Amino acid sequence: MPRPIRASIDLEALRHNYLVSKHRAGSARAFAVVKANAYGHGLDRAIRALAPVADGFALLDLAEARQLRAAGVTAPIALLEGFFEPADLADIVALGLTPAIHSEAQLAMLERARPEGAIDVLLKINSGMNRLGFTADRFGAALARLRAMPWVRGITLMTHFARADDEVGIGAQLATFKAITAGLDLPVSLANSAALLRFPEAVGQIARPGIMLYGGSPMPDLHGADELGLRPVMTLTSEIIGVQEIAAGERVGYGGTFEASGPTRVGVVACGYADGYPRHAPTGTPILVGGRRTRTLGRVSMDMLVCDLSHLEDAGVGSPVTLWGDGLPADEVATAAGTISYELFCALAPRVPVSVRGESAGAA
Ligand SMILES: *Cc1c(COP(=O)(O)O)cnc(C)c1O
Repeated sequence: MPRPIRASIDLEALRHNYLVSKHRAGSARAFAVVKANAYGHGLDRAIRALAPVADGFALLDLAEARQLRAAGVTAPIALLEGFFEPADLADIVALGLTPAIHSEAQLAMLERARPEGAIDVLLKINSGMNRLGFTADRFGAALARLRAMPWVRGITLMTHFARADDEVGIGAQLATFKAITAGLDLPVSLANSAALLRFPEAVGQIARPGIMLYGGSPMPDLHGADELGLRPVMTLTSEIIGVQEIAAGERVGYGGTFEASGPTRVGVVACGYADGYPRHAPTGTPILVGGRRTRTLGRVSMDMLVCDLSHLEDAGVGSPVTLWGDGLPADEVATAAGTISYELFCALAPRVPVSVRGESAGAA
């Protein structure tokens, strides 16, 4: 028998969450961000759920874009980091992809390539995140160079917000973007999940929802996923495979970081950091055993972690455990572990078997 750990991916929930993003976007299009193997959920599965409904997709990798086209997706596909070398441009044209252009190096490659077909591009503006894109002083020249290339067809102006999810918001970046692009009659793409959910004025013509599609809240401190109408897509489950009764003063796991203050019944769960559970999750991280909430104890090891069964008398070997997902929002686990649900999802390890639910969602 394989280890009892399993990730269940609910394609119906994924589709539901996409439709929530679409609803929020109003008349704008919503490009489903499926980078990083659909945030760890499996690109092939995400395609099955989303291809029938999505206005477009956004990702980073040519190989992933090729996978979408091979699955029959004809909708636009944005490459959020554009291309990396001149050879990529032939594939971009052949696959009909929409690369971001964020640097002078990319402009030069595009000029020299003189591709045969037409290319739509996203011209990336650095409005304050200071990662990728053209600043105010360089934007005009970049746009002029794009416009001078006959093979460049549609130009969409794009920027990315650094703090759409916190109290600072998007005000300053949006003002910078508007100042840089004043007077231009070009479509714009601004909003990630947080901006889409919090700042409808900043949606533009193409929204780029990512984490919300997977049922994570981009700002769990402000709004839980539930409250946003989002459903968990990934549920990570396992079982109790061992039980120990320890006395006051005894310790659990590597480093003995948890010390029992009284008689404690501890359950050993077949899930560790090699499965993608965060090793830095401290004692007290929430976990469900038999559908009831308890807490982890001590350090997460490679293949196992330990939880408190003291108040769960009927739990024992074979009891089902939920690490996150249905009944326990990944955001709660992530917050307890000092990270974000994005990282939990993306870290799901290849060794964890995956089962799929809601398979017929696309046809429904
Ligand atoms: C990843 C990414 C997104 C999606 O962000 P979420 O916070 O997951 O919604 C949108 N735009 C760009 C440029 C990205 O890199």
